[in-house]
Amino acid sequence: MTISSALIVENSKTFQAILADIFSSAAIETDFATDANMALNQLSAPAAAYSIVIVSSASLGDDIERFAKAIRTIKTYTHIPLLLLTTDKDYSDRRLYAAGYTQIFSRTNVVEIKSYIDHFLLRDISPEQGNNKVAIIEDDLPQQLVLKAILEEGYCECRCFKSAEDILTSCESYSPDVIVVDFFLEGKMTGMEFIGIVRNAAHPWHRLPIIAVTALDDAARKYELLRAGANDYLVKPMEPVDVTVRVENLAKYKRLMDMVELQREEMQYLAMHDQLTGLYNRHYLAEQVGVRLREAVRHDIPYSIIVLDIDYFKKINDNLGHDKGDEVLVALGRMLNENFRSEDTVARLGGEEFIVFMGHCDLDYAMQKAEQLRRCLAESKVAGLDITASFGVAQLSKTNDNFDRLFKAADEAVYRAKNGGRNRVEPASL
Ligand code: GH3
Ligand code: MG
Ligand code: MG
Ligand code: MG
Repeated sequence: MTISSALIVENSKTFQAILADIFSSAAIETDFATDANMALNQLSAPAAAYSIVIVSSASLGDDIERFAKAIRTIKTYTHIPLLLLTTDKDYSDRRLYAAGYTQIFSRTNVVEIKSYIDHFLLRDISPEQGNNKVAIIEDDLPQQLVLKAILEEGYCECRCFKSAEDILTSCESYSPDVIVVDFFLEGKMTGMEFIGIVRNAAHPWHRLPIIAVTALDDAARKYELLRAGANDYLVKPMEPVDVTVRVENLAKYKRLMDMVELQREEMQYLAMHDQLTGLYNRHYLAEQVGVRLREAVRHDIPYSIIVLDIDYFKKINDNLGHDKGDEVLVALGRMLNENFRSEDTVARLGGEEFIVFMGHCDLDYAMQKAEQLRRCLAESKVAGLDITASFGVAQLSKTNDNFDRLFKAADEAVYRAKNGGRNRVEPASL
C-alpha cells in the first residue's frame, strides 16, 4: 500500500507547518482541517482517499473519542492509521485506543512523530517488502481471484494452483516466499495433507511459511491446521488487510530465516576449509573422515591416502618472503585439486603438508597416482619456482584400521622419503 496523502486535523498554524514539513520530507501529500466537523466532511468526500489521519486533541475539544469512532464507521477508513497528538497527559490511553486511535503521541514530541512517519512509509513501500512471491492453492476460482487481487494490490507476485498435486510438481523449480492454502482443493489431497507433506524435513519447502485458509465456523480445524505446521490462518470471508499484513509478516520472517541460514552455511564453510588454499582443513577431516573409513572397513572397500610435504619449504619463506611461500601453497592446492577425482578428498593438514583420500583405491594404484603427481610437480613450475615434495602412501588395512594409524603409517613413509633424499614416494609398511 502506497501512502498517497495524509489528512492533518490541527488548529494551530505553527503545528500545521511542523506536521506538513514532516510529511513533505517523507513525500506524502497533505490536506488540512481545523476541527472535527470539517475533517469528517473532508474524509467523507467521494474523491477522498487518505491513507493516514493525524489529529491534535486541541482541535477536537470534547470530541476526541467521538471523532475516532466516527472515522471508524466510514467504510474506507476502518483500518487506516489514526494518530492522536495530545497536549494533556491525563487522557486515558486505553479509552482512546478503544475508540479507534492507533497511536498516541505528545504533540510537542516532533522527533517521535517524524520517526513514526518515516518508519510507516518504509514499512509500506520499501522494495524489499514488495514483490513477495506468493503461491495460492485454492480450487474455487472466484476465491482464487479475490485473494490474488488483494495480494497484487500489496505488490505481491502471485501464482495460483487448484490442487496440491499441481503445485508439488513444481517444487524444484519454483520457490515462493509464502504459501496460502485452502482446506478443500481439487485433486486427492486436502490443504492439511499438503502441509503434512511439505513439513517433512526432506522437502525443499519444509521451512516455507504457510497460511491455511479456514471457514469462519471451523475452530477445531483451525487448530488442527496450526498443529500440522501452518504458521498462520485466514478466515473466509477475508479482510484484505488481514491477508496483506499476514503475508508481509511471514515474508519478513522468511527473509530473516534465510539470512540466518546463509550465515550458518558461511560459518560452516569457514570452519571446514583452509582459508589460504580453500581446501578442506583438519577440522573437516576430524568430522568426516572417520565415518568414511569405518564404512570402508565394514564393506571391505580398498581405501588409500597420500600424505605429501614440500621439500625445503622454509628456504622459500626465508629467501623470497612469506607471501611467496603462501603463493606456492595456493598453487600446489590448485594442482592437487586438478589431479584428483572429485570423489577424492584433498585437504591441507597445516603448514606445507597435504593429504589426499582415495576411496576404491588400493596401495598399488595410490603409489602410481603419487608417483605421477611427484613427477608432475618436479617438472612444472609452481608459482614460478622449482618445487619438489616427499610422499608417503598408505592403505587401510587390518593394522591401519583407523585414521590415526593410517595417517601415522603414511607420515612415517614421508619421513623415510625425506631421509632417502626427498622428491620421492615411499609406501607405508603394512
Ligand atoms: P623439509 O624438506 O624437511 O620438509 O623442510 P621444510 O623447510 O619444508 O620443513 P620445515 O618444517 O623446516 O619448515 C616448514 C615451514 O613452513 C616453516 C613454516 O614457517 C612454514 N609455514 C607453515 N605454514 C605456513 C604458511 O601458511 N605460509 C607460509 N608461507 N609458510 C608456512
Ligand atoms: Mg477450496
Ligand atoms: Mg617441508
Ligand atoms: Mg612439514
